[in-house]
Amino acid sequence: MKILVINCGSSSVKFKLFQVAGGDFSVLAAGLVERIGESTSRLKLSWPGGEIEDDRRVTSHHRALETIEELLVDRQILPDFSSLYAIAHRVVHGGEKFQRPVVIDDEVTAAIKALIPLAPLHNPYNLDGIEALREKAPRVRQVAVFDTAFHQAMPESSYLYPLPYDLYQSHGVRRYGFHGISHGYLVKTAAGFMGRPAGDLCIITLHLGNGASAAAVRNGKCVDTSMGLTPLEGLVMGTRGGDLDPGILLYLERECGLDGDRIDEILNRESGLKGICGENDVREILAKIAAGDERAELALEIFCRRIKKYIGAYTALLGRLDVLVFAGGIGFGSSYVRRQVCTGLEHLGLRLDPGANESCRAKINPVDDGRGSVRILAVETDEELEMARQVIALSSP
Ligand code: ADP
Repeated sequence: MKILVINCGSSSVKFKLFQVAGGDFSVLAAGLVERIGESTSRLKLSWPGGEIEDDRRVTSHHRALETIEELLVDRQILPDFSSLYAIAHRVVHGGEKFQRPVVIDDEVTAAIKALIPLAPLHNPYNLDGIEALREKAPRVRQVAVFDTAFHQAMPESSYLYPLPYDLYQSHGVRRYGFHGISHGYLVKTAAGFMGRPAGDLCIITLHLGNGASAAAVRNGKCVDTSMGLTPLEGLVMGTRGGDLDPGILLYLERECGLDGDRIDEILNRESGLKGICGENDVREILAKIAAGDERAELALEIFCRRIKKYIGAYTALLGRLDVLVFAGGIGFGSSYVRRQVCTGLEHLGLRLDPGANESCRAKINPVDDGRGSVRILAVETDEELEMARQVIALSSP
């Protein structure tokens, strides 16, 4: 059984092809087409026998998916898309309607379309991919997996903003949360590592990539998450500041004469790590710190301090903490960030092992010294695998 996992962004299509046999998932191929619509697009494909990378013109998501099919057929990895068991599409926003993955039909595409106002930068491109592949492989089961679904378990007291209630009822203004596919994967992975059901554990998962979010999880269910109506809330990120005094926005408009588009740009592209030190790539920031750049050091200090605050708040909400999971490019890749975050949290039972923290080579790495009450894990997240698993779980009786 082969499952194709698709993630369509505004100018890219990422994919992974899995072979599923008796509960085992192996990767047959993976790749991406990026810079779609520009004069040259970049294409990458890797499979166990090799890899290719080239530049060519790809004008649309539809054309990108055709190109991916041609490549897979050329390399004899797949006869054609019609031979797939299923196609899983990542859909960023499922609103309150989608609490779990669903098989896509016309009603589902209409609902995803209706959610565009909540995710104008994502859902339209997710739909492009869905429409292209429904056309290309009409008989293949296509499944939408939502990045918001994991957080739908949050209680009302967690997802409601203390704003006029009508804004929730009439306009859907509430906390939805994102990165849910990753948080879900991390919870299962942590429980598997602990050899205990997720239902017995209190877990905090940190997905720290260019976008960053935290989730508090009890009994396998999300109790709270840091992103909100949009991915702007919560942790400090590469180019977004996370939690801010909302009065700043009013001040920028009233006193600095900035309009909504300019404020949007500042909030989404010019803030966060980049806002503080001019750089959003943490590897570059670490290099600057090594060279004595104080602003770079301050940027990561602010980043880690915010994470610490969330760990404290979430531990209080959960009532207990059993596992803290670091993931995402930064969470998995940076021992510096893990050290900065955990130092000073010994009173919460977090005790990092300096040696283990420096040598994370496996997909799952325990990095605590075993003497605290909390297991600390650095995990390489795998959203595509989680999506493929969810497709199989959906099909199982
Ligand atoms: P995205 O949100 O785009 O999926 P990623 O999860 O790939 O992002 O994370 C990107 C971030 O992770 C970048 O800031 C990058 O510098 C950082 N990163 C990746 N590998 C490492 C590493 N080994 N050490 C420190 N930071 C890393």
